[in-house]
Amino acid sequence: MTHELLTKLNLVNHPRIVTDFTGDETPEKDNIVLSYNPATGKPIAGIRLDSQEDYEVVTAKAAKAFKEFRKIPAPKRGELIRRIGNAYREVLEELGSLVALEMGKIKAEGIGEVQETIDITDFAVGLSRQMYGITMPSERPEHAMKEQWLPMGPVGIITAFNFPNAVWGWNAMLAAIAGDTCVWKPSLIAPLTAIATNDIAQRVASEMGYEDIFQLVIGTDAIVGESMIADRRYPLISATGSCDMGRHVGSVVAGRLGKSLLELGGNNAVIIEADANLDLALQSTVFGSVGTCGQRCTSTRRLIIHESIADSFCAKLVTAYESVRIGDPLDSNTLMGPLINEQSVAGYEHAVKTACEQGGTLLTGGTRVTNLEGDLATGHFVTPTIIRAPEGNNLPMALDETFAPILYVFTYKTLQEAFDMQNDVVQGLSSAIFAGSSNAAQRFLDPCGTGSDCGLAYVNLGTSGAEIGGAFGGEKDTGGGRESGSDAWKAYSRRQTCTIGFGETLELAQGIRFE
Ligand code: NAD
Repeated sequence: MTHELLTKLNLVNHPRIVTDFTGDETPEKDNIVLSYNPATGKPIAGIRLDSQEDYEVVTAKAAKAFKEFRKIPAPKRGELIRRIGNAYREVLEELGSLVALEMGKIKAEGIGEVQETIDITDFAVGLSRQMYGITMPSERPEHAMKEQWLPMGPVGIITAFNFPNAVWGWNAMLAAIAGDTCVWKPSLIAPLTAIATNDIAQRVASEMGYEDIFQLVIGTDAIVGESMIADRRYPLISATGSCDMGRHVGSVVAGRLGKSLLELGGNNAVIIEADANLDLALQSTVFGSVGTCGQRCTSTRRLIIHESIADSFCAKLVTAYESVRIGDPLDSNTLMGPLINEQSVAGYEHAVKTACEQGGTLLTGGTRVTNLEGDLATGHFVTPTIIRAPEGNNLPMALDETFAPILYVFTYKTLQEAFDMQNDVVQGLSSAIFAGSSNAAQRFLDPCGTGSDCGLAYVNLGTSGAEIGGAFGGEKDTGGGRESGSDAWKAYSRRQTCTIGFGETLELAQGIRFE
């Protein structure tokens, strides 16, 4: 199965891939990184790591290619992106399966992730004729003013392991439509998906005569990562990952006065009012917290529920959690796959233990899965977990983003109390409210900002599963970046304010005379 998939995606005998593993053997070379299947804990393939010299070659090519690519009219770039979208359509199932194999999310979510990349290609094609600048009146006679958005340069794209295809898609498709070239530094945890994804885009670009538009550099943070973020040839570094990573990357890029677009961690909450549609709230909360085994930046990590319905809702939630089918992500019956690796399992166990020591009550889960057989017996499976906070809602562990399926439950009396609790974390990515009353929903979305302080706010929907049409991202320690839809493309462009005189006399702004 694995070999067949890798063959279909042209990954067998690939120059970057050192070995396809069929058994338990591990290569001894230290200049390769292993891609593992988290459902078995076994390696899938070894990938050659790029060196400092490789990085230099790739960056020089991206800088050179930019000088030509920026001359291509934006609608023609749109033609490139349209063809790339079609090429992904042809391998939607295979690429989605590779995401599932290497990252461990279930196949339906893997396919959904690739669909997101296809969606952003469609969006980018439309944008290629709509990257509007505005005009404004000049204060001077016989003068005109306008703003235009120009290609910027090579963009460095650093991605997290959990969306090994779509996060690049969001960035690269917008960067390319804006006239930029892209150099992708993927997570070393999911390099195979990156190779397959990037190869397809660059193959299509090459067929159209555009070389080196989409490049990949697979290397360590110390060698390749640090070189990239400090490199002035990248006017923009778009980095997706943990808050710690973003703090470091953001400060290095700012130190050279470059731009960074940071998409970092979340600690997302769902608020449930007593008059909400509780069936809807239940389904959404389970999907939000259990989906992708709690490894989405937008996963629901906290449930803030009106005290009058907390007991009955928690009982239903426990029943739903205990019926979640855990297993092989590629099996269509599975609802929850594994965590990514043993480090992640240790983080999960630590969070459960600490939360219980802090007074939390374990309602369900909290353990490794031990009843899976065959190859899955060595996978990184855990049970979805619910921990109820003690009276007074004091549970410091819940303030951290643990990248695992743990849901902490808090109760409230007044809506303001719920908003305060929801906003009382350092991250500000996604938030949701389930409410029957439109007043409660509107207060959550208060245009004066007294409701949710997050970049994403949902009403009668869970915290995860964003559409590509809106700008995606969050505030506070989530980094403030916006990717994907709306006007996120502007981050990949250089703004220029143009003033054009068409008279015969010198007119100075602010009425200054200089004669
Ligand atoms: P991570 O921070 O460990 O790694 C993310 C990326 O940063 C990787 O490619 C890594 O190699 C790179 N990196 C780390 N140090 C670097 C350095 N010094 N220089 C250059 N690159 C460096 O994150 P992860 O474990 O892969 O992903 C999980 C995290 O990502 C979670 O916190 C999650 O919330 C977040 N995330 C956020 C979003 C979002 O859009 N807000 C989306 C997906 C994931």
